Amino acid sequence: MANYINLDNLKFTLFDMLKVSDLSEIERYQEYDADSCNILIDSTKDYADKVMFPVFKEMDEKGAYYEDGKVIVHPVVGQFMQDMGENGSIGPTFDYDHGGMQMPHTIHTALAHVTQCANNSLPGYTGLTGGSAGLILAFGDQALKDTYVPKMLTGEWGGTMCLTEPQAGSSLSDITTSGKPNADGSYSIDGQKIFISGGDHEYCDNFVHLVLVRIDGAPAGTKGISLFVVPKYRITADGGLEPNDVVTAGDFQKMGQKGYCTTHLVFGENNDCRGWLVGEANKGLKYMFQMMNGARIDVGMTAASTATAAYYASLQYAEERPQGRRILSGGVKNVEAEQTPIINHPDVRRMLLLQKAVTEGSVALLLQASYYHDLSEYGPEEQREDYHDLLELLTPIAKTYPSEMGRISISNGLQILGGYGFCTDFPLEQYYRDIRIMSLYEGTTGIQSLDLLGRKIVMKDGKAMRLLTQEIIAVIKEASEHDVLKPYADQLKTASKTLESTLMHLLGYAMSGESERYIADATIFMEMMSNVVLAWQWLKMATTAQKSINAGETTYAAEFYLSKIHTMKYFYKYELPKIQGHKVTLMSSDSLTIKDEQTIAFA
Ligand SMILES: Cc1cc2nc3c(=O)[nH]c(=O)nc-3n(C[C@H](O)[C@H](O)[C@H](O)COP(=O)(O)OP(=O)(O)OC[C@H]3O[C@@H](n4cnc5c(N)ncnc54)[C@H](O)[C@@H]3O)c2cc1C
Repeated sequence: MANYINLDNLKFTLFDMLKVSDLSEIERYQEYDADSCNILIDSTKDYADKVMFPVFKEMDEKGAYYEDGKVIVHPVVGQFMQDMGENGSIGPTFDYDHGGMQMPHTIHTALAHVTQCANNSLPGYTGLTGGSAGLILAFGDQALKDTYVPKMLTGEWGGTMCLTEPQAGSSLSDITTSGKPNADGSYSIDGQKIFISGGDHEYCDNFVHLVLVRIDGAPAGTKGISLFVVPKYRITADGGLEPNDVVTAGDFQKMGQKGYCTTHLVFGENNDCRGWLVGEANKGLKYMFQMMNGARIDVGMTAASTATAAYYASLQYAEERPQGRRILSGGVKNVEAEQTPIINHPDVRRMLLLQKAVTEGSVALLLQASYYHDLSEYGPEEQREDYHDLLELLTPIAKTYPSEMGRISISNGLQILGGYGFCTDFPLEQYYRDIRIMSLYEGTTGIQSLDLLGRKIVMKDGKAMRLLTQEIIAVIKEASEHDVLKPYADQLKTASKTLESTLMHLLGYAMSGESERYIADATIFMEMMSNVVLAWQWLKMATTAQKSINAGETTYAAEFYLSKIHTMKYFYKYELPKIQGHKVTLMSSDSLTIKDEQTIAFA
C-alpha cells in the first residue's frame, strides 16, 4: 500500500493545535471526544486503503464517458455511494432528526482529507449529494425535505449543483434558464446547464438537481435568481418515478479528475420538465451560497489532499532513488563512493520542504476555517458573529491557496522524480493533472480574489480583517515566549504590518472612486495575504510543537515535533519574504492591466 497520508499530521493539527476535542463540551457535539474522533479517522483510513486508493489510477485510465445517452462511470462509484449512505457519511453534519450524525464540520473536513488523499475523484459524488440535501433541509419546505432528502442520504439518489450555463460561468447574473409557474405549484423549467459534476450515471436511481433559474418576469441580475429542485425523474402519485424531461447531452472529457463525470444537462426540451421552488423566489443565489461556501472549503481540501498524496509519493521516491554524490567540504566529490539517495541533495530537500510546507500549512488552514464554522454555529452566542466573519474572510484564501500552491508543490514533486515524473508509471503526472481543476471550479482564482479584496476585506468596515489581525497577534504573543520562535514571531509581526500598509494604499484607490484600479491586482493581493495567513498557521503549529517538546510529550516521535519547527523555518525563509515583491507590485504607480484608449498592450 502506497503511503498517501500521514495521520499523525492530521491528528496533531486537530487535537494538539486546534484542540478540537474541546468541541465535545458543546451539547450538540458531546459524542465527539478525542477517542471517538480517533476511531472515525482510523476507520476512514482503513476504508480508503481498501476501497478508494486501489482504484485511483484505474479511474483515471478508464475515465467517465458518454455513450447512447448514458454516462458510464467506474463501478466503484456505485459501491462508494452505497457504503457512504450505509454508514451515514453523506450528511454527517446534519441534525440527528434529519438523518445526520451532528458531526462537527472540523471532523467532517478531516475525514474528507483522508478520503481525498486516497482518491480525489470519488468524494465529489457524495460531497455534492450531501451539500444539495443540506440546501433542501435549510431552505426547502417540508414536502421537499420528505420527498428527496432521505433517499439522497442513503446514496440511492445523487445530488448536484447546477449554476453554470454556456454564456454564464463566473457571471451568474447572466443565467437564462427559465421557470414558468404552473397551476399545481410546480414550475416548467427550460434551459441548459453545463459542467455539472456527478450529474448522471447508472449507479443512482434518480438525480436531484439544485438549479439556478430565472422565473419569468424576475428582475435582471442576481436579484432575479431563484433556486429549484429539478429531479431527473419526478415522483408519481403512487410513489413511482417518471421521466422529468431532463436529458443528459454529454460528458465533458477532461485533462484530470477523469473518474468524476462532468455532464451537460438539458432541461425541458419537450416542454415537460418540472421544478419546485426552494424557499422564496429571487433569493436563490443567497441560498446557493450556503452550498458554495461549503464546496469552496471542500475544493480547497481536495487540492490540499491531492498535493499531500503527491508529497508522500515524491518523498518515497527521493528516499529510494540513488543519483550522484554529495559535495563534501572543500568542494570535492568522492566518485568511488556509492551514489547517494537524492533526498540528500539540498535542491531536492528544498522541493520536498516546499511540498511539506504547502500541504501541511493548507490542511491546518482548512481545519482552522472549519473550526470557525463550528464555533459560528454552536460556539458562545456572543462570539458567533465574529467566528462567522472570520470564516467568510478566510474562505476565498482556503479555497485558492491550496489550489494554486498545491499545483506548484506537485510540480516540484514531479520534478523530484526527474523524467519518471513525466511518465504514467508514477502517480505524479496524474496528481498534477488532477489538481489543475481546483483553481477553476467553485469560482476561479480571479473571482475568489475579487471576493476577498472587493467584498470580504471591506465588509462591515473591515471588521473581519481586524478580527484576523487579533488572531495573528495572539499567536505572535504566544510564540514570542519561546526564544527559538521569537525571531519568527517578529518576522510575522512585520509581515502583518506590511500587509496592512499595502492594503491601506489600495483602499486609497477605492476611496477616491478608482474602483477598477482597486481590484485590478486582486490576485496579487490574494497571494500576498495568503502568505501571511499561512505564516500565521505555521507559527501556530511550531508553537504547539515547541510547547509539546518543553512538556516532554511523547504522543509523537521527537523528530515529528522538530520537523514541524523546521518546516515553519522553511516557510519563513523561502515563502513569507515573497510578500516584499507583492508589495512592490501593489504599490507601483504604473497601471499596466487596466484597459484605456491610450494604452497599447497587445499588438
Ligand atoms: C470539471 C468541471 C466541473 C464543474 N462542476 C460544476 C458544477 O458541478 N456545477 C456548476 O454549476 N458548475 C461547474 N463547473 C463550472 C465552473 O464553476 C466554471 O467553469 C467556472 O466558474 C468558470 O466559468 P467559465 O468556465 O464560464 O469561465 P469564465 O467565467 O468565462 O472565465 C474565464 C476567465 O475569465 C476570468 N474572469 C471572468 N470574469 C471576470 C471578472 N469579472 N473579473 C476578472 N476576471 C474574470 C476568470 O477568472 C477566468 O480566468 C465545473 C467546471 C469544470 C471544468
